[in-house]
Amino acid sequence: MPHNGVVSDFDPGRRKRPAVTNEATRLAVADEEISRMDDAALIEGIARLREERNAVILAHNYQIPAIQDLADFVGDSLALSQQAAATDADVIVFCGVEFMAETAAILCPEQTVLLPDPAAGCSLAEMATVEQVRRWKKDHPGAVTVAYINTHAAVKAEVDYVCTSSNARKVIDAIPEDKEILFLPDMFLGAYLKQTTGRKIHLWLGECHVHAGIRPENIKEQLAAHPDADLLLHPECGCISQCMLSLAQGDLPKERTFILGTGGMLKHARECEGKTELIGTEVGMLHRLKKENPNKRFLPVREDAICEYMKTITLPKVYRSLRDMVYPVTVPPEIAKKARLAIDRMLALA
Ligand code: SF4
Repeated sequence: MPHNGVVSDFDPGRRKRPAVTNEATRLAVADEEISRMDDAALIEGIARLREERNAVILAHNYQIPAIQDLADFVGDSLALSQQAAATDADVIVFCGVEFMAETAAILCPEQTVLLPDPAAGCSLAEMATVEQVRRWKKDHPGAVTVAYINTHAAVKAEVDYVCTSSNARKVIDAIPEDKEILFLPDMFLGAYLKQTTGRKIHLWLGECHVHAGIRPENIKEQLAAHPDADLLLHPECGCISQCMLSLAQGDLPKERTFILGTGGMLKHARECEGKTELIGTEVGMLHRLKKENPNKRFLPVREDAICEYMKTITLPKVYRSLRDMVYPVTVPPEIAKKARLAIDRMLALA
């Protein structure tokens, strides 16, 4: 049935379609039809398929606005893990990156977890392999290993705790004082934790290319241009160590500088008095901040802080994901069982 001039889906009863000779042909034809659907038709189709599949759509704060707007839940890695663990939907469409979908698959072994684009990876997660982590642990016997959630499931299976930027401090505080800590893979978050807790933390030399690109000079320029604005920085930012030093030396305004994960940024925006906020993280975050706080002004510290992995998820891909049940993400049971222990320790603290 035509919708706004385009075909909205593939119900065989609605129109005559070419004969399907094999799966590849069927998909090619299907994709060609999707390419002719406009956004309204895609959104309508996604809503219908979501209902038919008893699916829930989870979206990370860095997703494009159109995906955030149609999702059942938008949040940071921790909030999305909690939502995944709580849902009774049969299908979880994870609009984020691969390690997040893996976490959902670990927490929901009975449900089908779909990642709309298998190319949605993460430069940070790629920086730690199982073999490297095993060697590191061997070099530091007795140390407690903490992995940021941005790691592959197989790496999570090697560690004692998982954490996100929202609860990393809580996780470190839960580890006995006399224990050394191995923190991976983000060195900026690790350095921030080391400095703020005073704990003996060994750092892995990994970084997210998006956050590492946010530099002290970007902060200085923005603060000079907006002298009354609050400054909200993600602890993964490449400027973080220098910003902490600048804070301690009084070169950054103590009362207006806040180091927060994405969940903390949303809370701060809701509760603060200021009218302008400078945001130091991936720019997708600004959509939700603006949507929830229409009377305030949010400006990116860097306009080009864009994660191409997050942005690879689009409306046509979410539609296709629900229609064709692609791409299922699964974790081998023996890895899932071990990784789950580390994730559950984090969830218990949250
Ligand atoms: S913003 Fe960085 S850490 Fe987040 S998904 Fe993209 S590459 Fe990974």
